[in-house]
Amino acid sequence: SSLYKIDGWGAPYFSVNGSGNMAVRPYGTATLPHQEIDLLKIVKKASDPISSGGLGLQLPLIVRLPDVLKNRLESLQSAFDCAIQSQGYESHYQGVYPVKCNQDRFVVEDIVKFGSPFRFGLEAGSKPELLLAMGCLCEGNKDAFLVCNGFKDAEYISLALIARKLALNTVIVLEQEEELDLVIDLSKALFVRPVIGMRAKLRTKHSGHFGSTSGEKGKFGLTTTQILRVVRKLKQADMLDCLQLLHFHIGSQIPSTALLNDGISEAAQIYCELVRLGANMLVIDIGGGMGIDYDGSKSGDSELSVAYELEEYASTVVDAVRCVCDRRAVKHPIICSESGRAIVSHHSVLIFEAVSASSYEVPSMSPIERQYLVDGLTDDARIYYQNLLTAAYMGEYEACLLYADQLKQCCVDKFKDGCLGMEELAAVDGLCALVSKAIGEVDAVRTYHVNLSIFTSIPDFWGIDQLFPIVPIHRLDQRPSVRGILSDLTCDSDGKIDRFINGESSLPLHELEGNSSLSGGGGRYYLGMFLGGAYEEALGGVHNLFSSPSVVRVMQSDGPHSFAVTCTVPGPSCADILRVMQHEPGLMFETLKHRAEEFGQEEEDDVGGIANSLAMSFRNMPYLASASSCANGAGDA
Ligand code: PLP
Repeated sequence: SSLYKIDGWGAPYFSVNGSGNMAVRPYGTATLPHQEIDLLKIVKKASDPISSGGLGLQLPLIVRLPDVLKNRLESLQSAFDCAIQSQGYESHYQGVYPVKCNQDRFVVEDIVKFGSPFRFGLEAGSKPELLLAMGCLCEGNKDAFLVCNGFKDAEYISLALIARKLALNTVIVLEQEEELDLVIDLSKALFVRPVIGMRAKLRTKHSGHFGSTSGEKGKFGLTTTQILRVVRKLKQADMLDCLQLLHFHIGSQIPSTALLNDGISEAAQIYCELVRLGANMLVIDIGGGMGIDYDGSKSGDSELSVAYELEEYASTVVDAVRCVCDRRAVKHPIICSESGRAIVSHHSVLIFEAVSASSYEVPSMSPIERQYLVDGLTDDARIYYQNLLTAAYMGEYEACLLYADQLKQCCVDKFKDGCLGMEELAAVDGLCALVSKAIGEVDAVRTYHVNLSIFTSIPDFWGIDQLFPIVPIHRLDQRPSVRGILSDLTCDSDGKIDRFINGESSLPLHELEGNSSLSGGGGRYYLGMFLGGAYEEALGGVHNLFSSPSVVRVMQSDGPHSFAVTCTVPGPSCADILRVMQHEPGLMFETLKHRAEEFGQEEEDDVGGIANSLAMSFRNMPYLASASSCANGAGDA
């Protein structure tokens, strides 16, 4: 497991078990050995045909682990509770989950349910997110916050005011100064006394990629001048008592507690100033940004890693707020945070299959190929060839490489001019490969073809160079003998993973067993992408019309397999994904069937068989199907 740094990024949830498979420890350090879940067993259960007791799902597969989600939530709460208790802080912590990190129904419902004992709430940044949060919080703790962030129009604000009428603990956070007039007017029109928050633009700047929205020139929030104008206006409207929350967001993936302390201290000063100006301040909402150690280095020296744990994060926050408030003799506020990445990243694993790998052909040369070199080369190419042979005879390796390059370039030019045949060009390629091999300059990195779309399932890798731990989920008791990059199914040169968390441009991988699993031969080779539970599902697109993966929700159970699949969602079919782009698969099918009747009869084809094949293609997922799972589709096109 050290090859893949699993102990670094995986602890306390992921490790390698005695069978050499990746195992999940659903309760972190509190997991007992018999409670560990073998990921390969989940994949088998999910993908085996229904006739053999499986669920018949097609890969790729997201394995959702609600126990891990619960553990993350409870760990966050207990880190703040401990810091509050040990520092004598005189209020409490009450977090919210920003639904934009993963809006999946089960994720949000789980968070509301698991967080209910400690009043955990939700944050929304758009109208549909607000609708979602309102619906889910009806089942939650009545004191849980519903924080409304993001740019707002009258409809958004009315919806938030209605949420307050429905006795949801809603706070409208002003993201722009212009929103205030709407809040004042609409709350009067709807006869609701709103609770208002304000997002402040801090001067503290997080310099990494995720900090581009922070600092004075950041995209969001109110400047000092605007904050003062808002206070004045609220006072004039006799609504200063409605201003109760100060919000800010330093940026995602905050690298160090030093930066965190800086930002929180600045914000706590603003909070105390608002108290001085007469607002009815109760809550400091520190935004998100608690980081994840994707590369397991705990160094904090790149955007992939952070140099603190949950406990240090919480204690820095509590300490910074307490120090400022004590100095200003201000009552300690409720501390709210909007951690997203830190809550949901660990809870899901994306599993996909490597279906084939480019083979490394050991260079060799047959007598016929040698003859092509002797007889087929043009005069100028033959000079390079002779130079190459002389250099090889003298043992001058650098010169060999140079002449091989020149020979190849010359022959490619001749081929383009139509003066050289394909056989001669292939013989030259073979000779150059032999020279490289003899001199030890062979590029042994292989390409593993994976049944996945990176644009759909790992969009941050493509979009912002974010790296995630990727590991084979089995055969980890065997030393990998190959180095490879991963190439996806899309017709796009960006659809490959060639950078990994260890800083290298290839991944240690195992030789595939037998032929491609697509033709029904050979063993399967499954890889897992870990820590991708935040953002990836929401950001993924439909490039090449690949759809989202199948999903299983898996809970620890004390039964024979130590797990139970509690929910199954097959990935969208080709028909589903065509509908996303406004096509009408039903009509398309009818048109194609009609055409089969028209032309198939002429050719004496089995028209019924063609129609069935077409229907099945609409029903199946867009991903490659292994020979045994070709007929998995269900339902109507
Ligand atoms: N709150 C706000 C306002 C944000 O903009 C973000 C993310 O950008 C978050 C919370 C969540 O941040 P993270 O996932 O880094 O905790």
